[in-house]
Amino acid sequence: MISQNAIDTLRKVEIGARGLFIDGAQTDAMKGAKLTVTSPIDGRPFASIADGNAVDVDRAVTSARKAFEKGSWSRAAPAFRKKVLTKLAELVEKHVDELAVLGVRDNGTEIGMAYKAEPLSAAGTIRYYAEAIDKIYGEIAPTADNVLGLIHKESLGVVGVIVPWNFPLMIGAWKIAPALAAGNCVVVKPPEIASLTLLLLAELASVAGLPAGVLNVVTGRGAVTGEALGLHMDVDAIAFTGSGPVGRRLLEYSARSNLKRVFLELGGKSPNIVFADAPDLKQAAVVSANGIFRNSGQVCVAGSRLLVQASVYDRFMDELLAATTRLKVGDPLNLTSDVGAVSSAEQLDKNLGFVERATAEGARLVSGGGRILAETGGSYMAPTIFENVTQEMQLAREEVFGPVLGVMRFKTEEEAVRLANSTVYGLASAVWTSNLSTAHRMVRAINAGVVHVNTYGGADITVPLGGVKQSGFGRDKSMHALDKYTDLKTAWISLG
Ligand code: NAD
Repeated sequence: MISQNAIDTLRKVEIGARGLFIDGAQTDAMKGAKLTVTSPIDGRPFASIADGNAVDVDRAVTSARKAFEKGSWSRAAPAFRKKVLTKLAELVEKHVDELAVLGVRDNGTEIGMAYKAEPLSAAGTIRYYAEAIDKIYGEIAPTADNVLGLIHKESLGVVGVIVPWNFPLMIGAWKIAPALAAGNCVVVKPPEIASLTLLLLAELASVAGLPAGVLNVVTGRGAVTGEALGLHMDVDAIAFTGSGPVGRRLLEYSARSNLKRVFLELGGKSPNIVFADAPDLKQAAVVSANGIFRNSGQVCVAGSRLLVQASVYDRFMDELLAATTRLKVGDPLNLTSDVGAVSSAEQLDKNLGFVERATAEGARLVSGGGRILAETGGSYMAPTIFENVTQEMQLAREEVFGPVLGVMRFKTEEEAVRLANSTVYGLASAVWTSNLSTAHRMVRAINAGVVHVNTYGGADITVPLGGVKQSGFGRDKSMHALDKYTDLKTAWISLG
């Protein structure tokens, strides 16, 4: 883990103006436009990024297509791609401190979490797909003797990657690494408020030996650069993580352009269900508080709906309140902070709007509820808990993407399942119980891409992540993610 001294040195490093990364080099946006980067730690500007437009996206896609056609990456032996990506993983590890602090200055995640979840996890992801890629075979179909049916796995071509600001490097790596490993060329559109680490990743990739044009990064506003990527006629697929409304737009862009395939990882309103026979109520309370409040609740799988069995409700709530009170919110670059800053002033306002409506709708505020540490100039919010939340309330239905927890009580397993599934989302969930049968029944009954049992979060790269219903489709992570970035080609060969 990084030391406080190292953090304090790195937090002062001048960042200056960062360009786009196209065709293996930094470059200005065609119009020379820039966006100011403000840190949510203190509300002060500390860098600028290029404000790209459709012409810049076209430059990046053209470079990616040229690189793809050239074949020095796409047709290279998988063992070569493995070597370069392994080198990239090593470089990310070598720059782990720099990447971690840069990312925290950009989006405010507490360093303890950011360090592991961003650069270290990205390095692990890149290494995982690097190691995998020369171990995947095509297939020979079971046919009659007079033919040979071969099934080739081919790369798609140019893949667009669009990611959100909560964990841009980790989520970016979940898409970039398998796409590159499978031989594609990539154009990344980072989130406008947290672009810096992905720009540095592209530079490190170049140092690692990735040929020019294979990985490009176009920064800028989503409605401009993201739309241009989504509508581009020469992009073969878009891998997206972000909000539902933008996901819907990407499907429209695809329909209006070249029918590119679109993979969506969207939001959630994940139920965290505590049965009376949870193995350790205190432990469940501590993990549940972390499961909603770390990174100020800006975690797609955050357990934002807590369902507690009535017979242990009061005991559990006492433990939860104690665990929440112990969380220290503060400067995300201080190693003693458990929770950092909300990513932007706009996101903080949005969170406070949810608090206002929950109160107006009759939910009972039992912890937090407002902005704190305003004197720092940064965007900080107290971990917030509402009780007496009902299914009709906005807090039960809509994703806050902030440190706001809604609590409900239930009596029976059937009621818990009904409440858990009463949502348009289906990303993650958790069940706390000592009963193996209850656990397995709940795993089957909950409509979600992930069901945790007696824990919350922490799943590693070996297992898929993604949702059902309006949480999207397609899976990041694990060997299954490679399917999104490869196509099957049949060779049907007559043997005479
Ligand atoms: P967002 O949808 O506003 O933005 C995501 C990305 O899309 C950004 O890079 C943005 O610039 C870009 N974008 C914005 N408008 C666009 C447009 N018109 N066309 C193309 N691209 C556009 O989401 P956000 O606020 O950055 O992130 C929060 C959301 O992401 C939450 O809903 C959260 O649940 C979700 N999320 C999901 C997962 C998951 O794995 N399922 C993980 C993290 C975050």
